[in-house]
Amino acid sequence: MQTTTVTMDCLHFIDGQFVPSLNGTTFDNINPATEEKLGIVAEGGAPEVDLAVKAARRALSGPWKTMTANDRITILRRIGDLIIQRNDELARLESLDTGKPSWLSGSIDIPRSAYNFHFFSDYIRTITTEATQMDNVALNYAIRVPVGVVGLINPWNLPLLLLTWKLAPALAAGNTVVIKPAELTPMTATVLAEICRDAGLPNGVLNVVHGFGPDSAGAALVEHPDVNAISFTGETTTGKVIMASAAKTLKRLSYELGGKNPNVIFADSNLDEVIETTMKSSFINQGEVCLCGSRIYVERSAYEDFINKFVAKTKELIVGDPFDPKTKVGSLISQEHYERVTSYISLALEEGGTIESGGKRPEGLNKGYFLEPTIITGLTRDCRVVKEEIFGPVVTVIPFDTEEEVLEQVNDTHYGLSASVWTNDLRRAHRVAAEIEAGIVWVNTWFLRDLRTPFGGMKQSGIGREGGLHSFEFYSELKNICIKL
Ligand code: ADP
Repeated sequence: MQTTTVTMDCLHFIDGQFVPSLNGTTFDNINPATEEKLGIVAEGGAPEVDLAVKAARRALSGPWKTMTANDRITILRRIGDLIIQRNDELARLESLDTGKPSWLSGSIDIPRSAYNFHFFSDYIRTITTEATQMDNVALNYAIRVPVGVVGLINPWNLPLLLLTWKLAPALAAGNTVVIKPAELTPMTATVLAEICRDAGLPNGVLNVVHGFGPDSAGAALVEHPDVNAISFTGETTTGKVIMASAAKTLKRLSYELGGKNPNVIFADSNLDEVIETTMKSSFINQGEVCLCGSRIYVERSAYEDFINKFVAKTKELIVGDPFDPKTKVGSLISQEHYERVTSYISLALEEGGTIESGGKRPEGLNKGYFLEPTIITGLTRDCRVVKEEIFGPVVTVIPFDTEEEVLEQVNDTHYGLSASVWTNDLRRAHRVAAEIEAGIVWVNTWFLRDLRTPFGGMKQSGIGREGGLHSFEFYSELKNICIKL
């Protein structure tokens, strides 16, 4: 295992300056793959959030407001370019913070973060609004204005990617922001603040306050009366707490929450293709992606063949050092999360399940929060392991006999984020995709994203949609102006 050679301390970024907490409080940042300290992080709370919100509010009426669309586009493009220039450094920090393979950070997380800026800077030019004439009496036209100060609260699984997915449209629409990165992964957000400053973003437009969620920086951001909107990605339970607290100041909310996504495999699909993609949809990023397909349903006639091939391939996955290019599965994020994920493996046994592969810490890896990719069979729809989000490299596989039966099982959940359907029957593909209660349904694929398309969950998996115009709708107010003719 590569030892930690990088240490980086993370300060808040408020009004264009890197600053410590007012009372100097910090917390340790730990590398989950080695359990070593990576550095210290300024621990913010209500006072730092207040300073950041005040800076963001001032910046709303500064040069950020008066600059031309061309200048804003140039700054956003430059942010994307600088992310690309610093790809290797950012990928390294992301893997040190999260425990994920560095090839994954370097080839997906960071390049896509840059693309978020390039995409939304291009998008600015496509924005048009409506005009409506009422006989010769009145002309109405709508204009888009920023929502104001937006709070972005982020999770630890795809730190820079999910942050930029919110930040780029928020800035493109002319808002100012206060970011609260996940306490477990503070490093790339800190570097991003530097990048934004270097790209020419005016002071106060982007602010970063580190700290924890409940009773800390996160809660203070949600409660602050001068924050107009909150965009949050995280657990469904946290989303409920934030909604209750945001109600006091009636904030606009965008939510991307948990999932327990089904992967439905019909016997007529191409099994080799299914297996190849299912390996990713099950175990990429240690299964710590809200879109991972953790409930696998296989038509009975293909079930045995699927299990044999899936288990064999899973046993080949190399778990370990995030900086070894051969590693496919890195470390889970923390001790606490490791205990939570492995508690579901114990529960699966209590609920009558069979562990077909994995289920334990890999031999020889005594430090770090490593877990073998785990396949569980023999469980039924009522089991907690089949119902609850685990957010780790753990999947259940259940056979089914009919389309009606599998649809009933698939929809028997409070979640509704995404789903995959595998079939070569065109009519069935359309029928099943239409019936699944999820915001995103992939047919014969997974994780294929066009940033113009709506992204978000149904039921308790989210509120609102992001992507293209949908993001602009959240991050801007549409104002109608009525002129009497
Ligand atoms: P996880 O348990 O996987 O870290 P959370 O939903 O708890 O997921 O955290 C996602 C983000 O939400 C983190 O940045 C966290 O600090 C923040 N957070 C957690 N609780 C609250 C809260 N009550 N108010 C505001 N932010 C919160």
